[in-house]
Amino acid sequence: MAEDCPDIRLTRLHYTLNREDKNFKAKCFQSGYCCTAAPCVYGTWEESKHQCKHLDDPDEDDRRICLIHEQIQKVEEMHGEPYPMFGSGCSSTLYNSARDNVIRNLLKRIEK
Ligand code: SF4
Repeated sequence: MAEDCPDIRLTRLHYTLNREDKNFKAKCFQSGYCCTAAPCVYGTWEESKHQCKHLDDPDEDDRRICLIHEQIQKVEEMHGEPYPMFGSGCSSTLYNSARDNVIRNLLKRIEK
């Protein structure tokens, strides 16, 4: 039945989360995807892992945080950065299996 289809539930959760938070076109779920595609200006690429060396290991929901995010935020506050690194949402929502995976895991946790 369509109601039981994980993809439909995932799409609905995705829509609900994005609609409820008016500040984001698409919410960041901290999948770490962007830090495995290329390092930001504060990052350092680690070729052997194909990711930034400051990216943490996945937690139980496969979320991966930036280990230096507090330092980055402090630097950006000091300089009055008009476009901060964190908090602007996700710009890579399509075909992003890492982000979809985190959403699926959160969905499972909510539905328990
Ligand atoms: S410094 Fe942090 S936010 Fe930037 S690429 Fe590395 S892990 Fe990602």
